[in-house]
Amino acid sequence: MAKGIQSIRGMHDILPSEAPAWQWLEMHIAGLLQRYGYQQIRLPIVERTELFARSIGEVTDIVEKEMYTFEDRNGDSLTLRPEGTAGCVRAGIEHGLLHHQQQRLWYSGPMFRHERPQKGRYRQFHQIGVESFGMDGPDIDAELIIITARLWRLLGLTDVRLEINTLGSAEARAQYREVLVAYFKAHLADLDEDARRRLDSNPLRILDSKNPAMQAVIAQAPSFMDYLDADSQAHFQTLQTLLDAAGIAYQINPRLVRGLDYYGRTVFEWITDSLGAQGTICAGGRYDALVSQLGGQATPAAGFALGVERLLALLEAQAKLPPPPLPQVYLVLAGEAVQSAGLALAERLREQLPHMALVVNCGGGSLKAQMKRADRSGAAWALILGEQECDRQSVQIKSLRDTQSAQQCVPWEQLAAHLAPLL
Ligand code: ATP
Ligand code: MG
Repeated sequence: MAKGIQSIRGMHDILPSEAPAWQWLEMHIAGLLQRYGYQQIRLPIVERTELFARSIGEVTDIVEKEMYTFEDRNGDSLTLRPEGTAGCVRAGIEHGLLHHQQQRLWYSGPMFRHERPQKGRYRQFHQIGVESFGMDGPDIDAELIIITARLWRLLGLTDVRLEINTLGSAEARAQYREVLVAYFKAHLADLDEDARRRLDSNPLRILDSKNPAMQAVIAQAPSFMDYLDADSQAHFQTLQTLLDAAGIAYQINPRLVRGLDYYGRTVFEWITDSLGAQGTICAGGRYDALVSQLGGQATPAAGFALGVERLLALLEAQAKLPPPPLPQVYLVLAGEAVQSAGLALAERLREQLPHMALVVNCGGGSLKAQMKRADRSGAAWALILGEQECDRQSVQIKSLRDTQSAQQCVPWEQLAAHLAPLL
């Protein structure tokens, strides 16, 4: 027999058993962001390839080897978005949201990167992205971090640590870059193939290498802190003061550079040790140059993205996911004759008890089979409507969890009042 068609490697279905956790998480995050004055923006999943090449950087892992790029029927080169910031900036410029304005925006949805699939690393994964525009001080950097810290508290997460760093000004980075290239050239033998290729195009990214064999040569490299410009130094210092005042603990990690070219000044990551190698659940920073790089008026900007799969994996590892919601009531319809009365009764109850989750038995079945379904549905109560009950405008109510308790006959008139305290 022919094998059924499988999903694409690294792209996963989110099954009904998993969806409640996603909904629960998204609800919390949307609510939290609303409380901080962030507005949702919904963006296309496909953009012009050029947008990502110009923003993320030509010589990054993402643009060089991870993008899902294709020609559409008009011959335009399009790409499934590998991240959300570029599209958000594109939309902001296109709709005039950024010029001389402040914006606090967020979005969520799938992102696509052709990486090697493994635990916590997929080809279709989900991010919730938060971006701020028009604010150049460290106060907004601090706010972004404060939001994430509150989110962990709200979700009950522990064991996440914050690492921060500054990438300084473009000039400081250029100066450091020269020193770094000289250092790495003197240690060519210790560099892997990727690093050698990056040496001329994007040497800072070598510091971000995950290759264990390169960690020693990276640890010995000159420190950017010695080349940091005074303004960025002050910005970074104030950020630290603000975080201290907010009671948020952090570590300065001078090796923290981000995998995308557009960052400058503040960068940060929230990391956990509970998920193995894929421990970064949230990453972000400042990208003041990006808006003008994409053709807008220069606008300061900062933001972060949460990895939803990793966040859910951490919630699961720390047993912080709530139990899935179950139906509360299951209506058993004993006999075809009671179908229409049953559906009408169910609608009346839904009107009266808007928060009740009620499942009506469809597809018939013997009383025994329906009671079995009722039990398997997870409902706490069964309502049983047979012809006799129907004639008397009443229904039997039976606990599905307490087998000792007696079945009761309740008139339709009193059913909502009877059920309300049981739910
Ligand atoms: P990593 O260093 O883990 O590759 P990154 O620096 O490429 O991450 P960003 O582009 O900053 O990640 O994306 C923000 C967040 O999105 C990451 O911190 C992570 O939680 C999540 N993320 C990134 N790539 C993937 C992926 N392939 N699968 C699942 N989650 C991902
Ligand atoms: Mg990556």
